[in-house]
Amino acid sequence: MTSQDQTPVNSAEEALKHIVDGFRHFHQEVFPQQQELFKKLATAQAPRAMFITCADSRIVPELITNSSPGTLFVTRNVGNVVPPYGQMNGGVSTAIEYAVMALGVQHIIVCGHSDCGAMRAVLNPDSLEKMPTVKAWLRHAEVAKTVVHDNCNCATEAESMGVLTEENVIAQLQHLRTHPSVASRLASGQLFIHGWVYNIETSEIKAYDAVEDRFLSLSQATNIPSASPKGRF
Ligand code: ZN
Repeated sequence: MTSQDQTPVNSAEEALKHIVDGFRHFHQEVFPQQQELFKKLATAQAPRAMFITCADSRIVPELITNSSPGTLFVTRNVGNVVPPYGQMNGGVSTAIEYAVMALGVQHIIVCGHSDCGAMRAVLNPDSLEKMPTVKAWLRHAEVAKTVVHDNCNCATEAESMGVLTEENVIAQLQHLRTHPSVASRLASGQLFIHGWVYNIETSEIKAYDAVEDRFLSLSQATNIPSASPKGRF
């Protein structure tokens, strides 16, 4: 066997070795330095927020919010989608109900991002012909596509992508509000929802502001933008 024949095997082994080496470094160097924290976390969690984002490897919720373990209750999927209540009793709906009812989180953040492959696929559905599961899943983003298609005179694909990514976050926030546990605590003012778009290249986050009905820079806003409706009870 020539060395060329072994290349794919080697590169797969290399990839795993990097991950295992990383674990060993964490286990031997990082963990001992934070033993107190991990001891506290061993038997309980009290996260400050639920964070729903894309499965994209470039989005690291704890990194971009400078959070420690135990701070964020994270749910990830292709396109940071939240299926409307009742349509699918899957992982996202389960995680939402658990976060709100069992953990009592007060904030749910839906975070999209720049250069999202899921958003690109929504714009170019032909690319999903051989991925029926992805195609079915991204039907939950169809509403955003229609909003953009009907209302945006987008000149370039980059502009369409930007607007679609924001509209998808708004659509998923609307889906989030169809979940009874969420709707009830929003009505009583005990839960707050947020829609963010993270820019991979610049690290900027734009946050949806329901009062101004637009996305504002999170690094510059004096008041933290919120997508929450006013509580009624
Ligand atoms: Zn993505």
